[in-house]
Amino acid sequence: MSDQVFDFAGNEEARLNALRDLRLLDTPPSESFDRLTRLASRLLMAPVSTITLTDKDRLWFKSRFGIDATEVPREKCPCSYTTYGQDVFVVPDLLADPRFCDGVVAEAGVRFYAGAPLISAEGYGLGTICVVDDKPRDITEDERAVLRDLAGMVMCQIDLQSKIGRIDPSSGYPNQQVFYETVEAAGRTGTGGRACALLVDLVATLAATDGQRALGTDFIEALMTGALGAIERGFGDRASIYHVGPTRFAMLLGAEASADVAGAVARVHALLEAPIACRGVPVSPDAAIGTCLYEPGSISPRDLLRRLYNAVEDAQTAPDRVAEYCPLHDDQNARRFRLLNDFQAALDAPDQLALAYQPRVDLSDMHCRGVEALLRWRHPTFGAVAPDEYIPHVERTALCARLTDWVVAEALRQASLWRRAGRKLTMSINASALNLEERDFAERLLGAIERAGVRPEMVELEFTESAVARDSARVIAQLVELRSYGVEIAIDDFGAGYSNLSYLQQLPASVLKIDRQFVMRLETSPRDQKLVQTVIRMAHDLGYRVVAEGIETEPALDMLRGWTCDEGQGFLLSRPTTAVAIEDWLDAGLNLPRAANA
Ligand code: C2E
Ligand code: CA
Ligand code: CA
Repeated sequence: MSDQVFDFAGNEEARLNALRDLRLLDTPPSESFDRLTRLASRLLMAPVSTITLTDKDRLWFKSRFGIDATEVPREKCPCSYTTYGQDVFVVPDLLADPRFCDGVVAEAGVRFYAGAPLISAEGYGLGTICVVDDKPRDITEDERAVLRDLAGMVMCQIDLQSKIGRIDPSSGYPNQQVFYETVEAAGRTGTGGRACALLVDLVATLAATDGQRALGTDFIEALMTGALGAIERGFGDRASIYHVGPTRFAMLLGAEASADVAGAVARVHALLEAPIACRGVPVSPDAAIGTCLYEPGSISPRDLLRRLYNAVEDAQTAPDRVAEYCPLHDDQNARRFRLLNDFQAALDAPDQLALAYQPRVDLSDMHCRGVEALLRWRHPTFGAVAPDEYIPHVERTALCARLTDWVVAEALRQASLWRRAGRKLTMSINASALNLEERDFAERLLGAIERAGVRPEMVELEFTESAVARDSARVIAQLVELRSYGVEIAIDDFGAGYSNLSYLQQLPASVLKIDRQFVMRLETSPRDQKLVQTVIRMAHDLGYRVVAEGIETEPALDMLRGWTCDEGQGFLLSRPTTAVAIEDWLDAGLNLPRAANA
């Protein structure tokens, strides 16, 4: 008989694929398999036993007892026969059998062989568990039964190992690892055409973390398991489902569903509409769905999942809770994430952060009354990063307090130097909405002002309307306290958001800063001229000093002075610059337009 016989079913390739999918070949020894070879040797009273996987050209030993070799060539080996058989295969004396008498195994001194095939659930012979002896002999029916049982135990162990790390223990659904493998395999055998993947986050809003806190992780697990079941029943074999995160699952749509992504998305939403019982509480998930079309094989599985993560992030803020992957957002997200991540290190680094100071000029006499402190960040790889790019994100995290603490310390250090040098300059510091929600913000700021030896009247706090809108009672209380010590309070970016002068009037603010977008349009927009003029008049009536930001041209400056705007700030007067440059500029007698005839 030649080796040809082994290809009896014509599906050797499928068998080898099934074997490779186990990911067991060439893995290190493991006690759970070694235990079984020891047992086989003892029960069948044979000096040697192996658990063998039948690869293309070799027999590789997942476990071996009594020998050192890790593999042998397949040719003229009884294990090859066992692998393709249905039952225990016995060779009482190899030397007496023409199929094996001149093979490597016989040459190594083996006379007796008995093995049972390892058969997968799909019916593929993957290998054997066998015993050998250096003396010819036969085996009893009982011993055959033992070998069969041992083969069954090996298969259980193989099944178990292939599931560990591949199935989510809470839901029983395949995990991210299997998602990767499936996408990879589809890429290899790709039939062409586009495919679609979805990522569903069951909780589009922060409500889940609240739910988790209130009801425990069981709650989230029950929600997830219920949702996965509903999706599986609804899609059947038109999609495969993977449990990839505590509240997230990915779906790989089949060809039919991929051709109608909108339909698939609507279906997911519809399937998740029916409330899911989570420990007796019916919950309707508020799911966000990210979608990504891709060419199988043209993108790595990790990249695909990353794109889906990006898409689902966009979906969370979309009104219909759906978003398609967008490469532009991907880049932005990556950079945003990196910046946010690196900002913490920047706070501790000695040389990444600095303050720039932009003069605020009294428009009645064109003298510099003070400066606004503006944060500058030199990122080690990106170079200078504009504050608009990272501050809004930092402001949403706990790092916000540290950012402002850093700015306050540095600005007050500079203010104290200027005070000692006899320069009378107010220092304006920007505060974030989140700062004003810190219970001890006012107390800390007042403490820092005192330690720096700066007069509170020389410090101004700028904040935007949105800062007040959040928890107005607490915010107002802090502002009132600061004001009572003499700290100036300025409403920043006035007009940029929802401006309500009568509401703002309840705040202890003394200064109103008109947003730069209006000022920058003064020259070209009669409407903005009217608006700014009106704001200045009304603000004066209400007792505010008015500051115009973003003065870039002489005509704009002229208009503002004509309307008796109190102060101005802008590139025409000076760009934000270093403390030293401010000093030089002041010492040079203020090189300001019209300063001479002011
Ligand atoms: P902002 O508080 O409105 O600061 C004024 C911004 O306008 C500054 O931008 C300044 O460089 C810019 N600017 C001044 N004059 C002109 C002009 O004539 N034309 C134009 N086009 N722009 C002008 P910057 O420094 O990029 O800061 C942007 C924003 O970042 C600030 O807006 C503020 O909201 C925030 N920010 C900056 N530093 C800090 C800080 O230390 N703490 C906090 N919380 N926010 C800060
Ligand atoms: Ca400001
Ligand atoms: Ca502003």
